[in-house]
Amino acid sequence: MQPTGGGRLHLGNYEGALKPWTKLQDSYEMFCFVADWHAYTTLNGPPPDIAAASREVALDYLSAGLDPDKCAIFRQSQVPQHAELAVLLGMLTPVSWLERVPTYKEKREFVSEGGGDSGPSFGLLGYPVLQTADIIVYRAHVVPVGKDQAPHLEISREIARRFNHLVGEEVFPVPDALISEETGVLSGLDADESGQLRKMSKSYGNCIYLTDSTDQVAGRLKTAFTTPTKIRKDDPGIPEGCAVCQLRKLYDPEGFTPQWDECRSGTRGCVQSKRETAEVLNAMLEPIRQRRALYESDPAELDRLLARGAEKAAVVAEETLQHVRKALRLV
Ligand code: ADP
Repeated sequence: MQPTGGGRLHLGNYEGALKPWTKLQDSYEMFCFVADWHAYTTLNGPPPDIAAASREVALDYLSAGLDPDKCAIFRQSQVPQHAELAVLLGMLTPVSWLERVPTYKEKREFVSEGGGDSGPSFGLLGYPVLQTADIIVYRAHVVPVGKDQAPHLEISREIARRFNHLVGEEVFPVPDALISEETGVLSGLDADESGQLRKMSKSYGNCIYLTDSTDQVAGRLKTAFTTPTKIRKDDPGIPEGCAVCQLRKLYDPEGFTPQWDECRSGTRGCVQSKRETAEVLNAMLEPIRQRRALYESDPAELDRLLARGAEKAAVVAEETLQHVRKALRLV
């Protein structure tokens, strides 16, 4: 995850990524980094405090339950082998592959809107090369991704294949997407122009953050999108299209049925649903908050923990680079 926008992660990030990772750490050798260099790909003004934002992301990793004794948790910039490999992979990646990556097309528009009159940067175009290095520097066999993200891995697979082909040796396993079937896309607290719920995303500002206090969660739910035609308590609601009812279903799988029934029949109003759903969410977030408080109380220990993670990662990354330098006849 990138430490953009201050680095705080939301419930969508938790459901779609962090939670599945916490399950994988028991059965895989796992590398979880904060993609701090990637946060610069759309920079076109004074840099925000990436160091502070990276610590926030790391804190969210830890509070979600990633265990530094089970997986390596670190910042990308603390393992320079990512950059060395990216430079080398860049030499053999055709520009045409990069230009047709959909996120490049989307983001280049974002950069222009932001007033950057010089156009997208070399780093933005080349970001899949760095992403590939991030993955294959650990000779990873699988990358946990959300369903919608599997295509993002395709270019990394192509670059790994091309490297192996050019040097005539299987230096890199071609990484597979590890798609967790149970996780869908979590909806946010608002709706689009046509009144449909949309993905929870930092860029829509429709999130519940893992760092939100109990009051903040309650406050965010108060203004959440419900059934627009349910104005009074006894107006019938449509739980399928309501942000609050959706969260209730996800986090209260046993108890949501009466709430949905009473919402539909107009015997329960949105105010009550929102209050109860806030309680359900706050109960779910409580252990996450407690773990965060523990790690937050000792910033020096957090830095040590990240340094240890980077050391652990660098051992594997350096082994790979030694192989890569040989294969490229650099040594
Ligand atoms: P954002 O849209 O807030 O910028 P990112 O695109 O940085 O989030 O996503 C980081 C990770 O979190 C990815 O693995 C992505 O699949 C996951 N993710 C983000 N939003 C959601 C969501 N609403 N539901 C499920 N997973 C999500």
